[in-house]
Amino acid sequence: MPDTIDTVFSPEGALARVLPGFEARAGQVQMAQLVERGFLEGMHTIVEAGTGVGKSFAYLVPALRSGKKIVISTGTIALQEQLFEKDIPLVVRALAASGDTAVSGNARDVRVTLVKGRNHYLCKQKLERLRSDRLIAPSRTMERMWEWGSQTASGDRAELPFLPSSDEWEQIDADADDCVGEFCEHFRECFFFKKRDEAKYADIIVVNHALFFLDLVMGGGLLPAYDLVVLDEAHQCERWATAALTARLSRATVGRMLRKLHRTYELPKSFDVEFEEGIRGLESTLARIPGDKYPLRANEDVSQPLERLRSSLFELENWLYANWHGALRKKPENDAEAERRRDLSLRAILAHQAAIDRAQMPSDEAIAWVERAESDGRFEVNSAPYDVSEFLDQTLFSRTPSVVLTSATIANAASTRNQGVFDFLKRSLGVHDAQEFIAPSPFDYHQQARFFVAPSQVNPKAVDFARKAGPLIEECLDRSRGRAFVLFTSYARLREIYASVRERIAFPMRMQGELSRTRLLEWFRTTPHAVLFATGSFWEGIDVAGDRLSCVIIDRLPFPSPADPLVAARMEAFEARGIDGFDAYMVPSAIVRLKQGFGRLIRSTTDRGVVALLDGRAASTHYGATILSALPPAKRITHLDELVEFFDFDGERSG
Ligand code: SF4
Repeated sequence: MPDTIDTVFSPEGALARVLPGFEARAGQVQMAQLVERGFLEGMHTIVEAGTGVGKSFAYLVPALRSGKKIVISTGTIALQEQLFEKDIPLVVRALAASGDTAVSGNARDVRVTLVKGRNHYLCKQKLERLRSDRLIAPSRTMERMWEWGSQTASGDRAELPFLPSSDEWEQIDADADDCVGEFCEHFRECFFFKKRDEAKYADIIVVNHALFFLDLVMGGGLLPAYDLVVLDEAHQCERWATAALTARLSRATVGRMLRKLHRTYELPKSFDVEFEEGIRGLESTLARIPGDKYPLRANEDVSQPLERLRSSLFELENWLYANWHGALRKKPENDAEAERRRDLSLRAILAHQAAIDRAQMPSDEAIAWVERAESDGRFEVNSAPYDVSEFLDQTLFSRTPSVVLTSATIANAASTRNQGVFDFLKRSLGVHDAQEFIAPSPFDYHQQARFFVAPSQVNPKAVDFARKAGPLIEECLDRSRGRAFVLFTSYARLREIYASVRERIAFPMRMQGELSRTRLLEWFRTTPHAVLFATGSFWEGIDVAGDRLSCVIIDRLPFPSPADPLVAARMEAFEARGIDGFDAYMVPSAIVRLKQGFGRLIRSTTDRGVVALLDGRAASTHYGATILSALPPAKRITHLDELVEFFDFDGERSG
């Protein structure tokens, strides 16, 4: 008789037996029960489970007990690695030791694999061809990659002790556009295909959202068929699904296409010149409109450079049709291989033509926009549907009997007693029906945390905001003795305030951009009383437990920017349906983001600290009240003086 799920989590249960000191939390057990019911009865499940609930065990135990083939997708590499290396082996051992029939009494019978996108793996054929063309490697990093390539067993780029530049790695990666599949002499030992085969026979497949949603867009092929899905860090799903559906046209994409063609064919250099001029013309036209992101339709001059690129692509396509056999760099094994190479090259050209078509004639459901790429700061043209709900409904939620969506921040109210607490997530992802739950936190926020909201006259939209916010930041940092993240919604605001306060703050300070993200975090963790000014990616996924982080200052309510074309299109779509876009989209988006920032602070039952929100609108508006009511129940304070007593009792430990 197998254990019930409650028994697995009980003090004498399977988990406690392999994990000394394990103590299940009420929210964890309830979540596990719900997930198991969803798997058994074929229902989708949505659970918000904050830090400390132990949500990964709460879905892993039912996942492993189900005996079904399950894909677990996460947003961050850190969580992927934690699941694959720590949590899953531990739960497998626990269930196997307790004789759970689903794991056959033997942990080795459960097959688990972590699959990454094709570009993470080495292509043996590309490496071999590159080496046969040259006697010595073109650079020291390439030399080290060649050495690694000849002895690696996995071909996974993560094994490299350094991060190669994308230009160099692209020359030897297993990208689909360069792969001739079964015509390749290394097909049987190919790292990527071996991994894909491993996934075919795996019980649990761990992936990231980028790969998971790309697989949905491609209609499968990257992942084998699966029975059930767990989407962890589900608040990122809309973003990743949109990214997977986005068509891009840029210097980087065109450069990649040409380099691929050069690798395969004796392609005339005149095409490089032609495309360089075309792209330069496009970039200078795109730069005429101010801003880093704007709707393409705002640029009336863009047709001409796009048409020029279209005709260059057309010429390239014609050249390929005329030369696909005669211009091959390496003699093919047979005609079929030559045809495969031609089709792969054609696919890259057609993708660029389609990107131009979609940019020039977006449908009612899609928009086209211009954006400065984070990687190289150059402008690119993008197009994508602004609403991914129908796509996800058709490709995922209607097809898979049970999908678990979980995250520390997906609810737009504090309790499931509030109606429509997951409406924002359900609407944006196309989930029509699901069982819902907010797992109670094991933390005593009222005791462990203080929450300060700036008075109403401090308004981030006013010109005097930096002048008013500066003294509040200084006072907060004085009370907490540094040990703080100061988080901003924009880089411009970060720089402005950093410059205005840096001379007056006595603690070690750094701002984002001064070092890499990893080194900044290392600096923060090892520097007593450190203060880090940051934006963007520092709002989430960062774990600093203990005294080193005792204060999180947030500059404003983090509404999405209405100038962002995707946001504007989503707002318009709500308005067109007679729904107030501000309430339905802006407010819940701000709640999710604010909870992410808030979540940096309390990471264990012994953590203590303060969150200070410098946006006075939060305390004086109706929407501010809605947003604040969805946050963890920290004790509100109206004066920063109240922190003297609060911080007094851990003052001794804080150095
Ligand atoms: S099968 Fe494809 S990815 Fe694998 S080594 Fe051959 S060409 Fe490269």
